[in-house]
Amino acid sequence: MELSRLIGNESLKRQLNLETGRRGLSHAYILCGPAGSGKRTLAGLLAAALVCSRTDGPRPCLRCAACRKAMGGIHPDIVRTGGDGRDITVAQVRSLRSDAYIRPNEAPRKVYIIENAQRMNTSAQNAMLKLLEEGPAYGAFLLLADNASALLETVRSRCELLTLSPVAEPEAEAWLRERYPDKPPEALRQAAIQCGGILGRARALLEEDPAAGGAVRETALTLLERMSDGDELQLLELCAGLEKWERETLTALLEETISLVRDALAHGAGARLECESRQYAAVSRAAGALSPRQLSRLADKLDQLRSASGSNAGAGHLTGWLCAATAELTVRHH
Ligand SMILES: [Zn+2]
Repeated sequence: MELSRLIGNESLKRQLNLETGRRGLSHAYILCGPAGSGKRTLAGLLAAALVCSRTDGPRPCLRCAACRKAMGGIHPDIVRTGGDGRDITVAQVRSLRSDAYIRPNEAPRKVYIIENAQRMNTSAQNAMLKLLEEGPAYGAFLLLADNASALLETVRSRCELLTLSPVAEPEAEAWLRERYPDKPPEALRQAAIQCGGILGRARALLEEDPAAGGAVRETALTLLERMSDGDELQLLELCAGLEKWERETLTALLEETISLVRDALAHGAGARLECESRQYAAVSRAAGALSPRQLSRLADKLDQLRSASGSNAGAGHLTGWLCAATAELTVRHH
């Protein structure tokens, strides 16, 4: 298979190449990995490979009319659903099922890409199971999920699992350099470090702020300062401003804040701090203003929020929880 547009993930590519070399693509896959890890890129390539009209050589060729339509998102035999962030209902799955019985227009296959597959409730998943089991032979199903364990075992057992992995830092940096030739190298390097191998997160960092992650870092410091102040209104105001952020960027913010809170905890216990001055001031102030118990509860709570941000919580919910949690643990009542 031609998968060079997917960065990193060498073992996954080997798995797919081995498999397609032997018996072609399977009819149902679960693509899983955190938000921003490349599920959609991979789904796009698999869908293109399924409709590609090339007869010799690796697919997708990315050149034939079918591939171009697939990559442009306008191929009539590739159907996408679940991308609107809402729950996927049983009615939606049933309508996919009726659609699946209409033969493909142009391609030999008809491909269904189900984003946020974890947002199908049990009855929607059971309807999906039926479709996987009894659907027409030309049907192919790509289920995208942040976490495959959110899907029923019966659904999982009908699909092949493709797990996206974080990309190594040098590879992430090289890709970012290619994609953002105008950004300063230092900004790209910082984004490559901060994204934890999740390229979507690196993009969110870079597109959020030309200073590449600068906004995330500055906001994490401000959040720590306001938690040290224990002023509810100031916390509210800060959190309200985060509602417009992408989920990936919020995740990065949570990670940054957790690491600052842990620094404060360590500093309070006597650890030396080696960092730039604003960070030093914020961390040592937090160590003075908040007790070790408060700090460790904060770290736990923020960690829970970070897990929620990896599942399917929207930005509005996340910032609401962030506000409630930080206020509960730090606000001083006079
Ligand atoms: Zn092609």
